[in-house]
Amino acid sequence: MENAKALPKYGNYIDGKIVPPASGEYFPTENPYTGEAWAEIARGNKADVDAAVAAAHRAFEEGEWPSLTASQRGKLMRKVADLIVANAEHLAEIERRDNGKLAAEVVAQVKYLGEYFHYYAGLADKIESHVIPTDKKGVFCYTKYEAKGVVVIITPWNSPLTLTSWKLAPALAAGCTIVIKPSEFTSASAIELAKLFAEAGFPPGVVNVVTGFGHEVGAPLVEHPDTAHIGFTGGEIAGQKIYEAAARGLKTVTLELGGKSPNIVFDDADLDQAVKGIVSGVFAASGQTCQAGSRLLVQESIHDEVVRRLVEFVSTAKIGDPSQLDTQVGPIATRPQFEKIMSYIEIAKGEGAKCVLGGRSRPDLGAGQFVEPTIFTGVNNKMRIAQEEVFGPVLCVIPFKDEEDAVRIGNDVLYGLAGAVWTKSLHRAMYVTDKLKAGTVWVNNYRATSYTAPFGGYKRSGIGRESGADAIREYLETKCVWIST
Ligand code: NAD
Repeated sequence: MENAKALPKYGNYIDGKIVPPASGEYFPTENPYTGEAWAEIARGNKADVDAAVAAAHRAFEEGEWPSLTASQRGKLMRKVADLIVANAEHLAEIERRDNGKLAAEVVAQVKYLGEYFHYYAGLADKIESHVIPTDKKGVFCYTKYEAKGVVVIITPWNSPLTLTSWKLAPALAAGCTIVIKPSEFTSASAIELAKLFAEAGFPPGVVNVVTGFGHEVGAPLVEHPDTAHIGFTGGEIAGQKIYEAAARGLKTVTLELGGKSPNIVFDDADLDQAVKGIVSGVFAASGQTCQAGSRLLVQESIHDEVVRRLVEFVSTAKIGDPSQLDTQVGPIATRPQFEKIMSYIEIAKGEGAKCVLGGRSRPDLGAGQFVEPTIFTGVNNKMRIAQEEVFGPVLCVIPFKDEEDAVRIGNDVLYGLAGAVWTKSLHRAMYVTDKLKAGTVWVNNYRATSYTAPFGGYKRSGIGRESGADAIREYLETKCVWIST
């Protein structure tokens, strides 16, 4: 009998080298469109964690990395930025295979990460100390900002390279060293990224990657006595466990968790513009984005017209093979997530919501891991479909009366990641912007983000901010120096 073709194997990346896992075990990673395994991923465990943290700790304390000036660190980061752009097609292909991201979008997303690294490379030598005037005579007092140490980066499967870079770039600019634990569903791109750090000439141990499962790799990394800060993006349950473990070790955390963001449309909005924003707001990446505008709040007088336009617009979306450039809706990235979305569609129906579009899977496409863009009307904000994060292409439409009502419903949720308001009235825009309890509020657009602008959540959507100049602070300690003169 002919042997099945061997799949490429991805080892861990520790101390500047690709190494096999201590367990000797690998697990398959699947293409969500075909359902086929395309590579094997190292199953890391505590021994790999210990080796990676030791390498990162050594690199932080000794050798070349701590002896570099901040400008030299920045120069190395610029090399990585250029390598990311030069290798964008390859990295994008890995993301598409592992996650089902659309070919039409993913190359641009990866190239944009080059901008991220350039931005933080430029900030590395702008971390300035401050002279502090005090009430004491004969002393000179100043602050100094120092890298925290070994930073752990734990990421989910929905946007692997982006969510890694959001943490990695500022942490490196601050002078930290890193151990990355990517999602077990989408690990390959982190290893490919790590290879670019070797090519750019980063000293061994500055960036390490250990792949595997949350309880076998993520948890030991958080608990390790030599890790200083945990940068996590993912679900609330894992986020809580990480926060608890970090608290036991008195470590700092940045947590980017879930959302159930309100997208609020007033009767004076430009509806052509709003409908486009609503659709990209919730259906981009098949709804698998934390900032998805999954609760559409529409003023009563335009409710039926907005729903009519949405149904007309979305029903033409092309679903299918993500490698085809005209595909607009790709597969769901993982089988458990597909099942979760389908179960929420049943929950919504059971709660009495009316499905006016979609609501079905597509077993005829690829491996059948598709959910049609789905719109529910007749939703009230107490329903589970309005309160819980689905993380899929499911929109629920909720009518409101006036500004106060919109804000009350918008805030009546445990999350506070983002929100948007569509109106031509400056007063309404400012009122809603002020009142929404959310880390990001968009006015007459949805989803704008930039490496220069902070991103993060209020309430149960997280702790701390990523992106923007202040994100570097998450990776720095403040030292206060007193000199007697
Ligand atoms: P998840 O929480 O299941 O897993 C995220 C990562 O945590 C994975 O790498 C996993 O292996 C690891 N992990 C799990 N348990 C752990 C533990 N006990 N200790 C340490 N690590 C552990 O999330 P997911 O299903 O991969 O991703 C979807 C979630 O991510 C959604 O809830 C979504 O809202 C959230 N998300 C948030 C943002 C944001 O910026 N706020 C962005 C993207 C995704």
